[in-house]
Amino acid sequence: MTQDEIYDLVIIGAGPGGLSAGIYAKRAVLHTVLIEKAVAGGQVVLSDEVENYPGLERVNGAGLMQQFADHARSYGLELTHEEAVAVEPGLKHHTVRLADGRRLQTHAVILGTGGSPRKLNIPGENELYGKGVSYCAVCDGFFFRNKTVVVVGGGDSATEEALYLAKLTRHIYLVHRRDALRAGRILQQRVMAQDKIEILWNTALSGINAGADGVSSVGLKDTRTGREKELAADGVFIFIGFEPNNQLVPAGIRMNADGYVVTDEKCETNIPGIYVIGDLREKFAKQIVIAAADGCTAALAAAHYVETRKAG
Ligand code: NAP
Repeated sequence: MTQDEIYDLVIIGAGPGGLSAGIYAKRAVLHTVLIEKAVAGGQVVLSDEVENYPGLERVNGAGLMQQFADHARSYGLELTHEEAVAVEPGLKHHTVRLADGRRLQTHAVILGTGGSPRKLNIPGENELYGKGVSYCAVCDGFFFRNKTVVVVGGGDSATEEALYLAKLTRHIYLVHRRDALRAGRILQQRVMAQDKIEILWNTALSGINAGADGVSSVGLKDTRTGREKELAADGVFIFIGFEPNNQLVPAGIRMNADGYVVTDEKCETNIPGIYVIGDLREKFAKQIVIAAADGCTAALAAAHYVETRKAG
């Protein structure tokens, strides 16, 4: 990868969307580089089991992403571990600036930087991160074998992770701020059938307290009456959705009020040649299969865009 070459396509983010885009871009013979600052695979590598990727009834998240990456590399995709710090739209070429100061010129850019866990922003959350507070059951669940943990949230992530933690821990309080789960029906049924999971309805966390060995208890607040109480717990797992990682989205690109990028059906933004895929893009559902489909769509659209520019 050098500053002098002009890429057809720079993909930023090696989640399922970025890796799928890499596969389709290489099959379309685009001169492509995929930039990833962490491990390839995105959020999926944190999932113990993925059960809804068509064709694979049950697969480990990290394993599935390894297959995506291997598949992309089999076409000779250049996958590089760098940090992109800015995307600068241009008339002739777009520029992707890297943390080390290098600037990559490219006809098209696909942004697939996903999202990060949303925080509760309550006392103790930051201070006790890594000392009992976690945003990843697969990463940290092992430390809570036969212990009591609190899981916060009522969506697919919270229920799925609570079910995972039920295999390890003694008891789980699933704390949800209202009286109905947001999670899909199958996950709801499984949670209700799991004896170790106790749902605390209409309840919010007001704070996380520390003892000598990390988290010792949480403060709970009834969201209807405002009544507060303390509950002993060894760990707190927070799954309350996530924020889109939109820091690299250039000024002038349309985003909705929640910070997700608005695209057309080709995943193209309002700046020609700049595409957004996966969880960063405004859409109805966030799923691996949809991120992968976005990657395909954007790469095919980018191939057409690059071909047209080169011909003109
Ligand atoms: P989500 O669907 O947005 O659910 C977030 C949950 O956290 C909701 O129950 C919400 O409560 C609660 N919440 C939000 N902010 C809160 C706050 N400040 N305090 C307390 N509770 C709060 O997020 P997610 O579960 O991370 O899922 C994200 C996306 O990924 C979804 O589209 C989901 O379908 C998808 N996903 C799919 C799978 C799967 O298919 N197996 C697995 C994981 C994730 P309310 O319900 O009251 O809003």
